[in-house]
Amino acid sequence: MTADELDAIRIAANENLLRERNEQSKAVNAVHVWVDPPLPDWTCECGDAACSNPVRVSIEEYEAIRTKSTWFMVAPGSQHVAPDVERVVQREERYWVVEKVGVAAEMSKELDPRTSE
Ligand SMILES: [Zn+2]
Repeated sequence: MTADELDAIRIAANENLLRERNEQSKAVNAVHVWVDPPLPDWTCECGDAACSNPVRVSIEEYEAIRTKSTWFMVAPGSQHVAPDVERVVQREERYWVVEKVGVAAEMSKELDPRTSE
């Protein structure tokens, strides 16, 4: 295994951890949809372990992202994207969606807390 592959695995592991945390906080976030502010805060799912930027995504938008095992939501900005392991598939004002490629995609499918497609 090369250093690049190890790097990709480290980044993917962090992103999968954040996805799991967001999945667990979903019920709490859902409650806040009906109060102010209407958009719940999620945690940025980028590969930077030090990043805990809030990302404002509606439950509907969140569900759309979760339909793909290889899709993750991050705060808008290229600093939240690791071009070696993912590519941007959607750019919104409040959030970006990235898609894992290669070994990171394989890991994301295996670690998906929801049943795989
Ligand atoms: Zn981030």
